Amino acid sequence: MREILELCIEMDLLAQRAYGVMAAHCDNKELAKTFSKMSAEEGTHVSWWNDLLGAWERGLLPDLVNDTDALIDRLTGLRAELEDILPEALADLTDHEMLATAARIEFFMIDPIFGELIDLTEPARADRRHEAYSAHLQRLIVAIEHHYEEQSLAAFLAGILNRTWRDNLALAIYATRDPLTGIHNRRALDTHLRQWSAWSARYGRPLGVALVDIDLFKNLNDARGHTFGDKALCAVADALKSAVRSSDMLVRYGGDEFAIIAPEAEPGEFAALLRRMVETVRMIDLKDAEGRRVPLSISAGGAVAVDPPASLPRSLDRLLAAADQSLYAAKQAGRDRAGEPIILGAP
Ligand code: GH3
Ligand code: MG
Repeated sequence: MREILELCIEMDLLAQRAYGVMAAHCDNKELAKTFSKMSAEEGTHVSWWNDLLGAWERGLLPDLVNDTDALIDRLTGLRAELEDILPEALADLTDHEMLATAARIEFFMIDPIFGELIDLTEPARADRRHEAYSAHLQRLIVAIEHHYEEQSLAAFLAGILNRTWRDNLALAIYATRDPLTGIHNRRALDTHLRQWSAWSARYGRPLGVALVDIDLFKNLNDARGHTFGDKALCAVADALKSAVRSSDMLVRYGGDEFAIIAPEAEPGEFAALLRRMVETVRMIDLKDAEGRRVPLSISAGGAVAVDPPASLPRSLDRLLAAADQSLYAAKQAGRDRAGEPIILGAP
């Protein structure tokens, strides 16, 4: 993980320095300002990776990548290519050559691998980081469009750069998000759960998994229609989002079921999380077409692996099965409540 983060830092440092040189030697004042801002933004990207490296060194970041060697090879290749496109005498380039160099730099930086790393390492801040990078790229595209004719090849290539970035982002969202509620989908859960469990086992930190199921949701659909049911699903997703910590991961697990990965949750905190989710959903103020409030409720259950054994990543099915058992108990006990969390691996 250290090597991966260091490669990201090196690449953003290369870009930061390149933009710095271009800002200092560009004849056009406006363009110099753009390069100077881009250099500062690359500095911010460097500090993101540095923060992550610091977190990793303090044991706060799991080894989130499954095939570390392959990723290191890929990033090393990207760094070599980035070094190749940076001319020796950056300072002597014409304005147009500088813009072309900037476009080449960003062409490497839009590689989906960086977005994936951000999603994996900082799920809670990923959206803001993607937006910040979009703004950074947009700055360059606007500069290219401004300095070249609308019909020029350069403006066309800037458009391609923009579209590639957006398409990559959209594809990543399709692959990991539930289209109805916008929260993560089950595919994202599988990846993240495996990674968090490896981290928990390695550092002996607790890992909680909660399962939530909307009560009598079929009746609501039957009585008020599927579209209203969809609205209720979104309202529940929003309520759950507000009840979990930003470091927890909320996913739509299936039809009316949600799952929450709660890393670092001690059993007491985890039980409180289950109760908080039930209470938050009870407070949803969903109205029907006539303006009447439609009450919603959920049942919640969960399991926490405390003092997780090294075998935890291989026994995730057990953790999920225990969470399901706790949820089933909540349903059996009358719904609209949190089940007692099942503690696994207690000393
Ligand atoms: P229980 O309290 O035991 O969970 O009762 P329930 O009626 O919620 O249980 P069940 O699992 O039988 O019902 C889930 C329903 O969720 C059935 C299905 O029609 C509905 N559903 C699944 N996906 C969606 C969706 O995307 N939109 C809507 N509106 N309904 C959905
Ligand atoms: Mg249900």
